[in-house]
Amino acid sequence: MRLGIHYKTTIAFGVIVAVILCAFYAYLWNTLERHTYQRIEADLNKEALLARAILEKEPLVPPSTATLDSIADDIGRIMHSRITIIDPQGNVLGDSELDGEELLKAENHLYRPEVQEALRRDTGESRRFSTTLRKDMLYIATRFHNRDLEGVVRLAMPLSEIALVSQRLKQVLAAALALAFFATLGMSLIVSAVISRPLKEMSSVARTIAEGDFSKYPSITSGDEMGDLARALRHMSDQVRLRLQEVVSSRSRLEAVLLSMFDGVMVVDSNGAIILMNETLRRLFGVGEDPAGKRPLEVVRNADIQEVVDRTLGRTRGVESKELTLVVPVEKILLVHATPVVQDDRTAGAVLVFHDISELRRLEKIRQDFVANVSHELRTPVSTIKGYAETLLDGALEDKEHAGDFLRIIHADSEKLAKLIDDLLDLSRIESGRLKLEPRPCALVRIVDNVVSALGRQAEDRGIHLVTTIPPDLPDVLADEDRIAQVLSNLLDNAIKFTERGGSVSIAAGVTNGYVRVDVHDTGAGILEKDLPRVFERFYRADRLRSSEKIGTGLGLSIVKHIVQAHGGQVSVESVFGQGSTFSFTLPRAS
Ligand code: ADP
Repeated sequence: MRLGIHYKTTIAFGVIVAVILCAFYAYLWNTLERHTYQRIEADLNKEALLARAILEKEPLVPPSTATLDSIADDIGRIMHSRITIIDPQGNVLGDSELDGEELLKAENHLYRPEVQEALRRDTGESRRFSTTLRKDMLYIATRFHNRDLEGVVRLAMPLSEIALVSQRLKQVLAAALALAFFATLGMSLIVSAVISRPLKEMSSVARTIAEGDFSKYPSITSGDEMGDLARALRHMSDQVRLRLQEVVSSRSRLEAVLLSMFDGVMVVDSNGAIILMNETLRRLFGVGEDPAGKRPLEVVRNADIQEVVDRTLGRTRGVESKELTLVVPVEKILLVHATPVVQDDRTAGAVLVFHDISELRRLEKIRQDFVANVSHELRTPVSTIKGYAETLLDGALEDKEHAGDFLRIIHADSEKLAKLIDDLLDLSRIESGRLKLEPRPCALVRIVDNVVSALGRQAEDRGIHLVTTIPPDLPDVLADEDRIAQVLSNLLDNAIKFTERGGSVSIAAGVTNGYVRVDVHDTGAGILEKDLPRVFERFYRADRLRSSEKIGTGLGLSIVKHIVQAHGGQVSVESVFGQGSTFSFTLPRAS
C-alpha cells in the first residue's frame, strides 16, 4: 500500500507525541501518587492540630468517656476522618467510629506506634493495618493538654481512600493526555496536508513534463522553499522544452539532409539494427515497409552489405569501401563506403553511403568498346592498303595488268578510311557538343529532293524504285539543312544498300503530335528483332552482315540519332525481317 507523505508525517508525528505523552504519563503517575499521599498526610496533620486546638480549648467537664466520645463524633463528622481520643494510659476515651459497648471494649492503645511517638515527641505518625477496623490506615496522633484532661488525639484515614483519590487523578490525567494526543494528531494531519499539497501539485506537473507536455506550470508562488522548488521546476520545464526543440530541430535537419541525399544512406546502431534508410536507398533496394529495427540482411537480400556492416561495427576508425553488384530489383553496381560512428572510444553504430556507379561503369565499358571497335575498324583497311602497297613496292608496280587493280583497291580502302575518320569526327563533334547547329526554318521537300537526286543514280544502278511522297502543305521545319541532309542521306543510303534489285524505297512525310515526321521505308532485308533495339548504337552491325560486301562503318545510324536528338526530335525503327524496314525521325515545326 502506498502511503501519502502527509499520512507518513502524521504517523511519525503521532508516534513522537505518543512516546512523549507516555513518558509524561509515567512520570506523573509516580509523582501523583506520592504527591496525593503527601497532601492527604499534610491535611491530616493540620486536622490533627485543629482537633488538638479544639480539645485544648473546650472545658472537658466532666472528662468522662461520654463527653469525649461525643466530641470525637463531632470532630470526626466535620473532618470526615476517624478521631480517637486516648488518655496517657492508653485507654480509648472517645472514637468517632465506635460507640457504647464497642468503645468500652476497645483495646488499650498505649502501644500503638503513633501514640507512643506522640507521647514522646508531641506528634506521631504510622501506616499500618488497623486491627479494630481491619483496613490499611494512616494514623496521625498529637498530644493535647486540657485544663481537665491530658491525652492523645489521633486521626485516621483509610489508605484505600488515598488510593482512590490518586486513581481518580490518574484517570483525569489519562483522559487529558489522550485528548491532547488526538488533538495533536488531528492538527498534524491538517498541517501535513497543507504542506504536502504543493508537493503533490509539483509531482503531477513533473509527471506531465516527463510525458512531454510543457503547458502546465505549478501555481505555487510563495517565498518559502516550496516557492523556490516551484520556480526551479518552471525553469527546468522551460529549459527542457528549449533543449528538446533544439534536439528535435537539429535531428530533423540532419534527417532531412540524409533523407534527401542523392546518394543512398543507411545508419545502423551498435547491434547492427537499421536506424535510418533514406528514400534513395529504399527505392534502389525496392524496400516498401519501414526497415527501422531490422538487420540489413532481413531487408536487402545481399550478404555483402551485411558483411560490410558487420566489419564496420567491429572497428573504431577508417572507412570500409566495397563495390557491390545488385541483381534485384534492378541490376546495379554500387560503391559503398561504411564509416563507424565512434562515441567514447566505442563503436556506437555505422553510416553507409551507397553511390550508384552503374552509369560510370557503363560509360567506362562504352569507352573501352569504342577504342576496341575503332582499332578493329581501322585495322582492316589499313592492313589492306599496307599489303597492296608492299606488293606494289615488291615489284608488282611493273605488272601493268594488276598494278591498276591494286591501286584501285588501295584507293577504295583509303576512301573507306577517310569515311570512317569523317564519321568518327562527326560523331565526336556531335557527342561532345562541339557541333554547332544552325537551325533555320526550311522546307523539308527541298532537302529531300537534294538527297534523292544525289543518291538517285545509285538506286537506279541497283534497280531500285525510289519514291517520295511529301504533301505540298507540309509545314516548314526548324533545322540545320546540311545536317538533316546528312541524316536523310545516311538513311536512304542504308535503304538502298540493304534492298535487293527490284525492290523499292520510299520517303514519306507528315505531321504527328505537332512534329514533322519523316519515314524512310524499304522493302529490303529487314532487321532481326533482337538487333532492332541496338541498330542506333555506335559500330553496331547485324551479325549476318559482318562479312558481307555491304559492310559499312556502323556509325551512320548513330550519327542520325545524335543529329535528330540535337534538333529536339526522336528516331525510331520498325522492321520485319525479310520484308523491309522503316526508319523514322521527327523534327520540330518552324512556327
Ligand atoms: P553501316 O555503315 O554499317 O550501314 P549503320 O549505322 O548505318 O552502319 O547501320 C547499322 C546496321 O543497321 C547495319 O549494319 C545494318 O545491319 C542495319 N541496318 C541499317 N539500315 C538498314 C536497313 N534499311 N535494312 C536493314 N538493315 C539495316
